[in-house]
Amino acid sequence: MAGRLALLGHSVVVLEQHDRVGKLACCTGIVGRECLETFPVATESVLRGSRSARFFPPSSRPFSLEKETVQAYVLDRPAFDAAMARRSADSGAEYLLGCKVTDVVAAEDRVRVAFQTGGHADELQGRAAVITSGFGSKLPRRLGFGRTADFVMGAQAEVSAPGLDQVEVHFGSHVAPGFFAWLVPTAPGKALAGLLSRSHTGRRLRAFLDSLAGQGRIASAEVNVVYGGIPLRPLPHTSAARIVVVGDAAGQVKPTTGGGIYYGLLCAEIAADVLHRAICSNDLSSQTLREYDRRWHGLLSRELQIGRWSRWLFERLNDRQIDRLFQMVQEPGFREALLTSADFSFDWHSRLVVRGLRRFGLRSVFSMAWLSAFRRDRAR
Ligand SMILES: Cc1cc2nc3c(=O)[nH]c(=O)nc-3n(C[C@H](O)[C@H](O)[C@H](O)COP(=O)(O)OP(=O)(O)OC[C@H]3O[C@@H](n4cnc5c(N)ncnc54)[C@H](O)[C@@H]3O)c2cc1C
Repeated sequence: MAGRLALLGHSVVVLEQHDRVGKLACCTGIVGRECLETFPVATESVLRGSRSARFFPPSSRPFSLEKETVQAYVLDRPAFDAAMARRSADSGAEYLLGCKVTDVVAAEDRVRVAFQTGGHADELQGRAAVITSGFGSKLPRRLGFGRTADFVMGAQAEVSAPGLDQVEVHFGSHVAPGFFAWLVPTAPGKALAGLLSRSHTGRRLRAFLDSLAGQGRIASAEVNVVYGGIPLRPLPHTSAARIVVVGDAAGQVKPTTGGGIYYGLLCAEIAADVLHRAICSNDLSSQTLREYDRRWHGLLSRELQIGRWSRWLFERLNDRQIDRLFQMVQEPGFREALLTSADFSFDWHSRLVVRGLRRFGLRSVFSMAWLSAFRRDRAR
């Protein structure tokens, strides 16, 4: 977005708290083919492509789904962030590293951005500010945007996994209740192992790593674990006079998988377009910038809504029911129909979810979920 605005002739300054862009990124870096086609800069940081994934249901046998063409790519996330920043800087955006923004104040005719750098306080003034400070940042709340009402924690580690050549997704209450764990090959002999969970994220990842090491699938479980949060619900609003919020800070993430790279990039494009028009017409009022909210909601609302329903349902299924769902996916005819369907997309899940619910019977899946929730409540 910084590069796009700079290319459009605006003077853009990016403030990054760390001394390097992409430092401490806790992310697996998987994006769909569509993301790479839409944002070719990502190609510079591709580690590998993937056209198949192996699924590990809670207790039934693992199975693979494979397409003829590459469906997803694993990016070197720090390298991707650095490539984006280089591209933006080449377009004219200025990067100020080691500058932690502490406050943003919108006045009548300008916005003031206060930041800390090298132990002292400083300030910049501009016509508008874009908050892209990621998950857990206090800035959106401080500026009156509220905070995301739902989130999940993720933990991940780089492991040595000789022989691994396929993305693996593991399910079940023993691994990641309500969510999933992954083992993603990145470079020869190397992989990222991680999981999402609402509780005991680190402990669960340690147990997952121990289990993989015990099976000889990874060389050692003694690895450095990093943590990050993922918003599962967007902020109630993401624009105000002279300010917009974009990316994880705004909650623009797929609730099904927690993937936020592509949606964040799409929303950043919309933000750049709306800001450009607003600056050109010298109208940065909250009414004008609300166009940003309208446009990105127009693009993503259905996905996010259906994604949240699916997530709600999935978190209420027990292991037996998840096994049953996976059995249905493997039923003769369905698997082929799934793989060849135009609804099968890495980035847009709503049509596939709706189709699946129709196929499995909306009533039966909902009643499975209700029954599990009821049993769980009674057990408390
Ligand atoms: C374990 C895990 C795995 C994931 N895997 C995937 C995946 O495979 N695919 C996918 O699409 N998504 C994935 N995600 C989600 C993805 O990482 C995020 O959606 C994405 O990073 C959001 O980008 P962002 O630019 O909004 O925020 P961030 O990447 O968090 O960037 C925010 C930036 O703002 C800086 N910053 C914060 N506060 C300040 C401040 N006050 N002043 C100055 N700078 C500040 C930070 O240093 C950082 O550089 C994963 C997340 C986790 C936790």
